[in-house]
Amino acid sequence: MAHQNHIFYKWGGGIEPDLPRIDHATDEFLVTEDGEQLIDAASGAAVTNLGHSVPGIDQIFESQSSNVSYLSLSHFSHDAPEELARTLATRSPGDLSKVFYTNSGSEANEAAFKLAREYFRSRGKTEKSVVISRWQSYHGATFGALSATGNTLRRRGYESFLADWEHISPAYPYRWSFEGTPEEQARAAARELETTIRQRGPETVAAFIAEPVGGASIPATAPHPAYYEEVRDICDEYDVLFIADEVMTGFGRTGPLFAMEHYGVVPDMMTLGKGLTSGYTPMSAVLVRDHVAEEFTHDGASFAHGHTFAGNPLSAAVANFVVDRYTDDVLEQGRARGRQLVSELDALRDHPMVGDFRAMGPMVGLEFVADRATKEPFDPSSKVYKRVYDAALDRGVYTYPGKGSVDGLAGDHLMLAPPLTLSEASASRIADAVIDSVETVYRRIKPEVTT
Ligand code: PMP
Repeated sequence: MAHQNHIFYKWGGGIEPDLPRIDHATDEFLVTEDGEQLIDAASGAAVTNLGHSVPGIDQIFESQSSNVSYLSLSHFSHDAPEELARTLATRSPGDLSKVFYTNSGSEANEAAFKLAREYFRSRGKTEKSVVISRWQSYHGATFGALSATGNTLRRRGYESFLADWEHISPAYPYRWSFEGTPEEQARAAARELETTIRQRGPETVAAFIAEPVGGASIPATAPHPAYYEEVRDICDEYDVLFIADEVMTGFGRTGPLFAMEHYGVVPDMMTLGKGLTSGYTPMSAVLVRDHVAEEFTHDGASFAHGHTFAGNPLSAAVANFVVDRYTDDVLEQGRARGRQLVSELDALRDHPMVGDFRAMGPMVGLEFVADRATKEPFDPSSKVYKRVYDAALDRGVYTYPGKGSVDGLAGDHLMLAPPLTLSEASASRIADAVIDSVETVYRRIKPEVTT
């Protein structure tokens, strides 16, 4: 057995025993030790938004590490994290202008929950501590973040560790049973938040957290904008902080720099990770609106929370370099490749095995179902997600697979989340490989599909 574990799967095994061994990577290409070139159509776990080995990154590592790599941010300051905070404040929506650094998406969400709790404690509302989130969401693997996570597969077995918080229906138009126009359905879905706040008691609820566009559990799902208008109003009415988890959707993944820009609504906090450094170093952050940060400046206010590596100058210098590269042109390139993928994958729109074909900018989600009419997912033992993933990998394309939820409320799926800098030729290769893979798997499992 290998000494090293591979995340989320068996010890030492990863998704399968013989994982491809990568020798090096450039742009959207991963090159194995055997010299095979794979297209990274998922940017790893939707991380390397600028692609691999971006020119100039080596000089940043060299100059910052020979200057200073690490400082304890409790005791020292440095240009690199200060500059990054200024940039994030300028480029994020509204007055999300104060930054708290962390090292992973999970840590960013943990910090946001504690910030929410302290914010209310400082205002004398000491009972407000409950976090409301949605089913079919992913907010991280640590206990607080997992408590908010609504992915039943990832929660399974750890329920006894988790906080007694609340979950509402996902923002998942494909499987909504609300009546009316898309706008009416969106408002009805959002009003579940109000019902849950009232049931639990507004005096106990601190925050609502949501991925603005669905990620790892239900990729590329997006509600009508009325959903977030309603969420904002409800949060304001009941004095609940709205946390947008942009760990996956941030930095151009869904088109604009941040997915909340689709909706024109400013959350009270926004958590960032992944694309913040495009995977060159681990780093994440919580952006906080002025009125929230203000509560931490009073005499006696405190926030006894932090991580050793937070805001280290090396990661901050890398993030400064990376964030500067999310120019309008790069964001537009991402959107153009998203449009190209959608048009070249058109053959899958009416495919008997594809229940939902969704896209938001360069993020595409295919949800597989055994019956398009009833939207019934495949039996988990069919491992459709893995078969399509394997077929695409055999065709030289790495995609991001996902199992359906254990309660049968979401089907197996495949996410495409390529670097924004993907070439047109690679986008075509991805589309061809995915169509061919879905068709190949379909031919094998046809008896399980109701047409
Ligand atoms: N939030 C979202 C929306 C994510 O997609 C992820 C990671 N997939 C996380 C939080 C957790 O981030 P990390 O794995 O860096 O802890």
